[in-house]
Amino acid sequence: MSQVAVIGCGVIGLTSALAIQRSIRNTKVTIFTKDITPNTTGDVAAGLWEPYLVDDTEEKSFGGKAKEAGISLQPIINLSDKRDHKIPDWVNVTLGHSELSRDHLVNLSRRYNKNFTAGYLFVSFTWEASYFLPFLQREFEKNGGRVVMKEIKDFNELAHYDVIVNCTGLESRNLTGDKKVSPIRGQIARVRGPWQFHTYIVDSEKSCYIIPNINCVILGGTKQSSYNIEVDEVDKQEILSKCSDLLPAIKAAEVIKHQVGLRPGRDKVRLEIEIKERDKDTIKIVHNYGHGGSGITLSVGCAVEAAELVEKVLNQRNKSKL
Ligand SMILES: Cc1cc2nc3c(=O)[nH]c(=O)nc-3n(C[C@H](O)[C@H](O)[C@H](O)COP(=O)(O)OP(=O)(O)OC[C@H]3O[C@@H](n4cnc5c(N)ncnc54)[C@H](O)[C@@H]3O)c2cc1C
Repeated sequence: MSQVAVIGCGVIGLTSALAIQRSIRNTKVTIFTKDITPNTTGDVAAGLWEPYLVDDTEEKSFGGKAKEAGISLQPIINLSDKRDHKIPDWVNVTLGHSELSRDHLVNLSRRYNKNFTAGYLFVSFTWEASYFLPFLQREFEKNGGRVVMKEIKDFNELAHYDVIVNCTGLESRNLTGDKKVSPIRGQIARVRGPWQFHTYIVDSEKSCYIIPNINCVILGGTKQSSYNIEVDEVDKQEILSKCSDLLPAIKAAEVIKHQVGLRPGRDKVRLEIEIKERDKDTIKIVHNYGHGGSGITLSVGCAVEAAELVEKVLNQRNKSKL
């Protein structure tokens, strides 16, 4: 039986661990992690399926599933007041996508007292961490997986595993020394707004978003190069003011809490095999980190690819044993 260690129990670690269990036979998977839900980056996210802050990463595949995994289908309105706004290519693979006509933009600009120059509509979904992370962990444990609460300071600690899968998000900067990884600070507010059924995303000098979740509405947000995990008063006021400027009903919505998370920024996701020399042996690592503002969106597709890489390493090892 092959032994695989996954480091990290966020959305990337859990989806990778499950994908390995499901696609590679005779494999025992153990997750080593510092934190689990509700203390991972995904627990701050709105969980909207939309590639965001992922630079050059190419979105490859996704498969959303069950009700208990916290998936809600909803219409998304994406608006911009920028002159050079370009509709991203991925919109073409979404359900019911359409570009807003001139008349629509004029109407919306009048209604929201803005000057929108471009916009598009599509149907997407939110995948909420407070539902899906416990769901994924239950599935993983049902399949015989084990979660060990342990910080890994060096890959050598897990050298006895056949493959190590590194899903440590922002912490990969310290664990691997990869200086391309850096924080993109996101502050958001959770408010009560059961009347809000669709998402607004405004791309402008005063960018903001309003994303309904099952029990709250997420108002966002910031994207700063900072390690500050404290709620900032200025950001707080700015988020509430920008969102209620767009939807005045937000002003009356009760604030549940303000939250901050650090997105694992990188020029592109690192999804590759690294072989480290160690004495007369080697440590085989599959890296899966750097998902920026789209870790939930990219998780399932990247997990499938990570599992393929793990299988490749295991097959090579078996061949060299023959
Ligand atoms: C405000 C905000 C809004 C967002 N909205 C969305 C959205 O709408 N849609 C979307 O797709 N994405 C969104 N994101 C991005 C998404 O949340 C992240 O890309 C994703 O959560 C990253 O997941 P991860 O598993 O790589 O990292 P993390 O969730 O940070 O998990 C890392 C795991 O590794 C563990 N770990 C780290 N170092 C070690 C170590 N040395 N030893 C052991 N364990 C270790 C940690 O304890 C943790 O379990 C948002 C993020 C923020 C902050």
